[in-house]
Amino acid sequence: MISPEQPEENGPLNDLHEWEEDVLQRYPEPRSVKKGSLFTDPSKKKSEFRNYEQTVRDSVKEFYRLNHMNQTVDFVKQKRAQYLPLKKRRLGMWQALEHLNTLVDDSDPDTDLLQIAHAMQTAEQIRSDGHPRWFILAGLIHDLGKVLCLWGEPQWAVVGDTFPVGCKFSDRIVLPEFFQDNPDSQVPEYQTELGIYESECGLENVLMSWGHDEYIYHVTKDYLPLEALYMLRYHSFYPGHRGGAYQQLMNDQDREYFQYVKKSNPYDLYTKSSTPPDVEKLGPYYRDLIAEFFPDEIAW
Ligand code: FE
Ligand code: FE
Repeated sequence: MISPEQPEENGPLNDLHEWEEDVLQRYPEPRSVKKGSLFTDPSKKKSEFRNYEQTVRDSVKEFYRLNHMNQTVDFVKQKRAQYLPLKKRRLGMWQALEHLNTLVDDSDPDTDLLQIAHAMQTAEQIRSDGHPRWFILAGLIHDLGKVLCLWGEPQWAVVGDTFPVGCKFSDRIVLPEFFQDNPDSQVPEYQTELGIYESECGLENVLMSWGHDEYIYHVTKDYLPLEALYMLRYHSFYPGHRGGAYQQLMNDQDREYFQYVKKSNPYDLYTKSSTPPDVEKLGPYYRDLIAEFFPDEIAW
């Protein structure tokens, strides 16, 4: 079922999961890793990246091309002005989960429950590891910003690795060569290490490429502890939390709270293949959890 607001043609990916499968290919689950120690690997060899470039699917490549070409300072400012007043609609969190679940690939009926299944699998794995309730909740709702896709935004403006705009594009961003076609590459002011920012100004003051992370952060920022907000806001910022890039923009708070981004990322990436969760059975638990932090309806 496609919502009336979802355009027929909103990007090259068959569905949004194709991007996540690609992320998984770039950051495969380490074979033997102590829990909680999945950190960045800046020593990743050039040859591994080259190998990746040979195997990346054409649809994914085209997706990154569009993303890297179109995420400019002006575009980000425009989307923030459009969405961040949170005047789009009012929705409960559970309602938003159900709404997101209508985002399915028409050609593949098996993907029917993918969005809600991913949300619950992520949350269930966090729960089974005994983490606090806000952490479980963050797992459940981390991808709800993808409703942007139902509201007419193209895939490249909803998913994809995020990165700062207004300063030099890091070569630790996937397929950085595509930034050649980004108009900001021709703006000298945007192409220094700091660009329009001050040293260690804090990511709070940095314009990130527009997508589901930034949006869900703003929707939830009055209701969740800062640890959870970091998880939501930077979960797709792979160049930062995996690549170790953009340290020059981070302040002490960012450095401290990125431990939570790193802690939650393996749950996002590595819980997808397990058996599908029993949505019906788990529903009451998650509705309670939502009610503990959120009112019945919030502004989107
Ligand atoms: Fe996500
Ligand atoms: Fe996710």
